[in-house]
Amino acid sequence: MSRIALLPEAVACQVAAGEVVERPASVVKELVENSLDASATRVEVLIRRGGNSSIRVVDNGCGMDRDDALLCLERHATSKIRTGADLMAIHTLGFRGEALPSIASVSRFRLTTREHGALAGTEVLVNGGRMETVRDCGEPEGTQIEVRSLFYNLPARRKFLRTENTEASHVEHVLHLQAVGHPLVGFTFLNDERLVMQLPPGQSLRERIHGLCGAALVAELLEIPECEFSGVKLRGFIGKAGVSRSTRQQQIVFLNGRPIENTTLNYALREGYHTALMKGQHPVTFLFIEMDPAAVDVNVHPAKREVRFRDPAHIREVVVEVTRRALESDRASWTKTFSAPQRIETSIVKPDETLPLIPMAEQTALRSDWADSSFQRPAAPSVSTFTSSTPQPVAAQQVPPTSPPTNIAPAAQPPAKDFKLLGVLGKLYILMENAAGLVLVDQHAAHERILFEEMKRRMEGQGVPTQRLLLPITLEVGPKDADWLVQHLDALSRAGIGLEPFGSGTFKIDALPQFLRADDPPQLLRDIIDELRETSAQTSKLRLGEDMIAKTVCRHAVKANDVLREPECLRLIQDLLACELPYCCPHGRPTMIQMSYSELEKKFGRKV
Ligand code: ADP
Ligand code: MG
Repeated sequence: MSRIALLPEAVACQVAAGEVVERPASVVKELVENSLDASATRVEVLIRRGGNSSIRVVDNGCGMDRDDALLCLERHATSKIRTGADLMAIHTLGFRGEALPSIASVSRFRLTTREHGALAGTEVLVNGGRMETVRDCGEPEGTQIEVRSLFYNLPARRKFLRTENTEASHVEHVLHLQAVGHPLVGFTFLNDERLVMQLPPGQSLRERIHGLCGAALVAELLEIPECEFSGVKLRGFIGKAGVSRSTRQQQIVFLNGRPIENTTLNYALREGYHTALMKGQHPVTFLFIEMDPAAVDVNVHPAKREVRFRDPAHIREVVVEVTRRALESDRASWTKTFSAPQRIETSIVKPDETLPLIPMAEQTALRSDWADSSFQRPAAPSVSTFTSSTPQPVAAQQVPPTSPPTNIAPAAQPPAKDFKLLGVLGKLYILMENAAGLVLVDQHAAHERILFEEMKRRMEGQGVPTQRLLLPITLEVGPKDADWLVQHLDALSRAGIGLEPFGSGTFKIDALPQFLRADDPPQLLRDIIDELRETSAQTSKLRLGEDMIAKTVCRHAVKANDVLREPECLRLIQDLLACELPYCCPHGRPTMIQMSYSELEKKFGRKV
């Protein structure tokens, strides 16, 4: 007896709906995508009770004639592709011809639409997939779709819906993405009559981000001007170094106008940020990638959020490079705020030296900082000033605090943004003042960054200087770890770790990086393996080496509570400012914090 039967159309639609329509937010996504494909310049979305009760999307797009209004509710009916070849190069957001019939099969559905210039529009009412009414209507040009009682005929599905607030927040997220992706289109969103979003049409991307996320976020972003690398165009904004979130909510990437999720891109962004991102944190991005639609497959998942690149390695390289460059380009503006004292070496005067040969004006500038009364003021309980903590502040002692000579050329004055050292707080934070207010430097983080970059430079050059061990140490590891070590012997050796395999999980450690203060080298190597094995699957060899340095540098090379004297502090600041990415330590934590006068004034209630 034959057991196979063709499903009735209504059931087939409900099956398809299972994939496309998961919750109110997916309905909104599909309807808004249709509006955008119909070249709408204004899209209005209204939901009631989180969309569970009703969803309405109104657009001023091209509209449909009566035939199309009927046909669009058939499965696999679409105006966006015609042949299998078209599938290889999708230019529109939709193409599957599935959304409308799916949505209509699981709701009470009303479509009204009128083409531009048409005398009358069409209204179609569908109930759980059954077409009930088709008639003329006098609605404005464009299309309006109303979806009521979602899943009313699929109680099992309805049960999966979350609270109204949760569903509403998913809808808002969908609209947020679409609004970022289409700044030229005006968006309005009303949730139970409450206006949640109102964005005018014709905005720039920056204005759109400002409208959605506020000025504070815009100030934390770096612009990526449009650039092209063999067929892949990139533009947008990414967060400055150290700007991060604990979720991927704000890591937004558009590919040919479509917000997408893609692991290759996630890894590429991570790698691009590398040490500028804290562990476990995610970057903030508004990145737009445009490429030949034929080079990417969007027909991977019914909801079209995932894509498959034909050449993922190229995409990854481009994203890593662009991110890295953008972060480095920020260096100039960063150092403008945090600028080191000029000619710092001149301030470190050895006790028995006469004053170095520097222009008089500069000497005075430095001297007036060093000998400033605030510098020698008695320490507050937890603030150790240099005068009290070290035998003698060399420069302060050397340079007599005379009044400045009269012949100072104004141009020779150090810029007002220069630092003045105040002291060290809790043996960790260097306190300074600049024209904008108070500056705090985490000496540990700064030290790590400096060491990290130095090691990196050496690794890229002839390798990290190593120290041969007098007595080689034996290391025993399990088979997987042994495998990993053997594969990475080269990278390890460039990072200064000399390892020789002896088979069956035994290795001889015969050299370690000079800078390393490892008490227990085998444990150090086990830590390195644990931490890097996961990373090594996705990052390049060079990055792996960097990761290794970042980890060892942090754990074993720097002491947090070393007491620094003033010349050392100044040297630290100067070295930090010379770094490629001075703003954060190799683990993405900030190295310096500026607390402006206006922030202080607010804190002290002088200003609201
Ligand atoms: P797809 O978008 O994949 O083509 P849909 O089921 O979402 O499939 O829509 C079917 C067709 O209905 C679309 O191809 C389009 O021609 C038409 N359509 C849907 N929504 C609109 C709209 N808001 N304005 C104009 N035409 C629309
Ligand atoms: Mg569609």
